[in-house]
Amino acid sequence: MSRIDPALARARELLDRFILFDGHNDLPYSIRRAADGDVKAYGLDRVHQESDTDIPRLREGKVGAQVFAAFVPTSVADPGRFTLEQIAIGLDIEEVHSDVFRPARRASDIAAARRAGKIASVISVESAVGLGGSLSPLRVWYAAGVRILTLCHNETLDWIDSATDAPRHDGITDFGRALVAECNRIGMMVDLAHASPKAQQHVLDVTVAPVLWSHSNAMALCPHPRNVPDEVLDRVKANGGVVMATFVPNFISRKSHEWMSPLQMHGKTRPGVDIDNAVALRAAESGPWPRGSIPELCDHIQYIVGRTGLAHIGIGSDFYGGPNPPDLADASRFPHLVAELVRRGWSDAALKGLLSGNVLRVWRQVEATSRKLAADRPPSIARVEAEGVGRPQRKKPAT
Ligand SMILES: [Zn+2]
Repeated sequence: MSRIDPALARARELLDRFILFDGHNDLPYSIRRAADGDVKAYGLDRVHQESDTDIPRLREGKVGAQVFAAFVPTSVADPGRFTLEQIAIGLDIEEVHSDVFRPARRASDIAAARRAGKIASVISVESAVGLGGSLSPLRVWYAAGVRILTLCHNETLDWIDSATDAPRHDGITDFGRALVAECNRIGMMVDLAHASPKAQQHVLDVTVAPVLWSHSNAMALCPHPRNVPDEVLDRVKANGGVVMATFVPNFISRKSHEWMSPLQMHGKTRPGVDIDNAVALRAAESGPWPRGSIPELCDHIQYIVGRTGLAHIGIGSDFYGGPNPPDLADASRFPHLVAELVRRGWSDAALKGLLSGNVLRVWRQVEATSRKLAADRPPSIARVEAEGVGRPQRKKPAT
């Protein structure tokens, strides 16, 4: 006999009223791997049991706005081209499924999509490696529809240290600072997920608009290097930014992080390790991988709120087709997360902020800052000249 969980019923009702904005989903990369980037052939309108995101489950999960990440692995041969191809997959999702998704290029488009009965689609670029050390492509990405830029991925670039790699710059270089200034000028939201703590601090020093952490949790609860340390959390309120709590098992659960750590270096899979095999072997030795849970994720959400305030929290699932916590297995599960917060006594106003109110405030502030700066500052053509692979750049950008 099935009984209706009152908190879950309440969560579903709230998700009909308040728009759920998910800050990070790697669907374009999943489509690239599974269907060579052919959105139509992939068939997003059917359930993909082998993965975690498709239209039926986004609808069941009551997602109102979805950020699709144009993810670019640092090591690809031609990152500039790869970035454009990934952005194109995002655009193709919007075009092939225009009955479901509505392109969101301004903060006000989010509510417009809901009024039209559609899911707002926001495109981000995950890792600015494809800039190739030049600011000019940034404006082209923006013109193509990109509104969020995750500065780096798991590897340190020529101008920024990654959280999961050896540092080379003690934060960011002059080019990194010029990039943040240009993002502020054109109205690109800056995303500090994946940046090293020092790099996060440097960006906070120079940005004149609020920033995002599109998929990160609290380091105090789980010491994974991808999580946000207290000294950075303590600066979020003054910046006005939003930390979007994420579902990645190793970022949620200290047990998961510890279980996984023999297979990892700098918080990512050791070179040469076949992760599926290694996980199976480790499970045979030490029991199943403890992949975190909704209550543990809510502990992060509440910790971040305690440190930053209710206006600075959001959700960024980081669904990428990989292993997720069992109770957050796919995009249909968002109401269960909201239900847990309902059980914990979260008010409607607090949930509204978490679901989208806070990130929309950031977006509007980024737009307002851009209007002000663009009025009297010309586009930046700053660039650094390549000095060879693996060597730190020393030249100052031409500003
Ligand atoms: Zn990521």
